[in-house]
This record gives sequence, C-alpha cells and structure tokens, in this order.
Amino acid sequence: DELISQIAAGEVVERPASVVRELVDNALDAGARQITLRLLAGGVRLISVEDDGIGIPHDELPVALKRHATSKIQSLNDLESVGTMGFRGEALAAIASVSEMAVLSRPEGQATAFMLDARTGEIKPAARATGTTVEVKELFFSTPARRKFLKSDATELAHCVESVRRHALARPDVGFAIWHEGKLVEQWRACHGPEAHDRRLADVLGEDFLSQSVAVHYNVGPVRVSGRAGVPDAARSRADHQFCYVNGRYVRDKVLTHAARSAYEDILHGHRQPIYALTVEIDPTRVDVNVHPTKIEVRFRESREVHQAVRYAVENALAAPRA
Ligand code: ADP
Ligand code: MG
Repeated sequence: DELISQIAAGEVVERPASVVRELVDNALDAGARQITLRLLAGGVRLISVEDDGIGIPHDELPVALKRHATSKIQSLNDLESVGTMGFRGEALAAIASVSEMAVLSRPEGQATAFMLDARTGEIKPAARATGTTVEVKELFFSTPARRKFLKSDATELAHCVESVRRHALARPDVGFAIWHEGKLVEQWRACHGPEAHDRRLADVLGEDFLSQSVAVHYNVGPVRVSGRAGVPDAARSRADHQFCYVNGRYVRDKVLTHAARSAYEDILHGHRQPIYALTVEIDPTRVDVNVHPTKIEVRFRESREVHQAVRYAVENALAAPRA
C-alpha cells in the first residue's frame, strides 16, 4: 500500500511546486480568504500552507489522509460537473507518502485545534484559529532518486511562486503571501469589485501587463471568454505571461494555446511573445477535468467550438481601438 501510494505520488508530486499547487487548491476549496505559504530551501525542507477556511473536524483528520478520500464529490454523477479544484482525494495521501506531513486544523465551533502527524498517525490538541495548516517537511526524503532531480533552491522557489501566481490570478478575492527563509517574497492583497481582476493582474504581473493589453469579452453559444490580451513592446516580451483558465482552473491546453496564438498570426513579428490571461467559462458537463492526476489538462467535448471562440475573442480584442 505504501508502494502504491508512492507510485501514485510520482504522478501528482514532481517537485515542491506540485505540493504547493495541491495544498493551495485545498485551501481554496475550503473557502479560504487568506493563504500564507512558508518555505524553506525552495520548499524541499519545508512547505507550510496556512488558510482560514472551513477546517477539518477532529474525527475526519485521519480520513483526509486516506487514498481516494475526498469530501468533495459523492457520486460519479458529481464528477460530470466538479465545482471544486480537488475531487480525486489522492493529493494528501500521495504527498504524505513522500514527506513528513502534519495537518493542523480547527473547524468553526470546535473548542480547540488538533494536529495529526501523518507518519505516526498520532493526533494531539494544538492551538490555532479556525482554518488549516498543512506542513510538508523533507520532501522525497525516502526516495533519494527523486530528490536528486530537484534543482537549486532558487529554481524550486521560482516554480513554487509560479504555482501560487496561477492561483492568484484566478482568485483576486483571496489574499496570498509567500515567505521564504523567513523573508516575505510575494504578497498579493485581496481585491473586490469590478476592477478586482485587473488589479490582481497588475499586482502579480506588473503594471506593464495592464498597459500593454486590452480587455477580452466574448460569448458564443455555451462558451464565454474573458480576460486580457496584448502585444508587449519588444523590451517587455515575456514567454511566461500566458495564462489560460477553464472554469477557474489553471490549465495548459493545446486547443487554447493554439487558438490564442493563431489570433496573433498577422500581428506578431520577430521574436515577440503574446501576453494574455484568458478565462474560458463553459458548462462543466462539456469539459472533462479528470484527464490527468495533476488536473492541469482538460478535454473539451466540442474543442473546435472552443478553439474558434478563443481565437475570435482575442482577434476582436486586438483589432478594437485601444480604450
Ligand atoms: P481532494 O482535494 O481531491 O478531495 P485531497 O487529498 O487534496 O483530496 O484532500 C483530501 C480531503 O482533505 C479533502 O477532500 C478535504 O475534505 C480535506 N482537506 C484537505 N485540505 C484541506 C483544507 N486546507 N481545509 C479543509 N479541508 C481540507
Ligand atoms: Mg485536493
């Protein structure tokens, strides 16, 4: 069973940033308003993710760590229309099998917090406000072959930050802070109201991103495309300022990137990269998010329609006079 968990872990957990992604997913699913990450050695020695979400009741703590234990879907039917980031119930089990994990949590109305040590299974009372902290120490300590593939602390940290950035762009209503070795490296405050998305884009990607892009709004049939797209001046061209979301989930999808790219066909010359942050909203039954354990890939039922919608959306936005 330990071995099966470790093999499953290989699919979910590649590096510290994968742990960060899963833990932040969970915090968001728990309704967190503020999420704080603390990292040591690029996340290899410690990843701690603290949230102010609904918490995990004392008696459910051991269940949360079991493989295929999820509180988020009840039936296969629910899988057709998942509204949460998680649903497979394997992240915590997988991470626990390749690290030293502790979960500290207190739901509203529970007199005290409890801490579960994943290695020993021991649960003891602890002090904490409502919410959950998951601590992951010594990632891959028992699988040195995997640990060897990790890059420098600086590189692993950069991947962790990138992972949070992807979440942060989708959820301007949630505040994020990232600490590394006791230093605050990023902080994005919660924003609300109609300008929230733009403000978060500027906070996370820089004011340039806003000034060099235009708003995208397009509805066709069941597909809604929104966000921003632009052509940066040569000096600011960035290959890493391309973000796609489907129903609030960050994805890397060939259909979407190809569609966005093709909207730039007549515009981009030389080595400039397009910049965009695009959100596709679509009836959840028309997209399968259960394609890969990392949930970073999706499959559209009508991919041609989605491709067309995204391409038109970006073309229209780029053709319109700048507001
Ligand atoms: P999934 O997210 O797919 O359900 P996970 O292994 O990531 O599976 O988490 C298992 C379960 O643990 C979740 O379904 C949830 O009930 C609980 N859980 C994990 N993290 C948190 C958190 N930060 N706040 C509240 N509950 C959590
Ligand atoms: Mg999860």
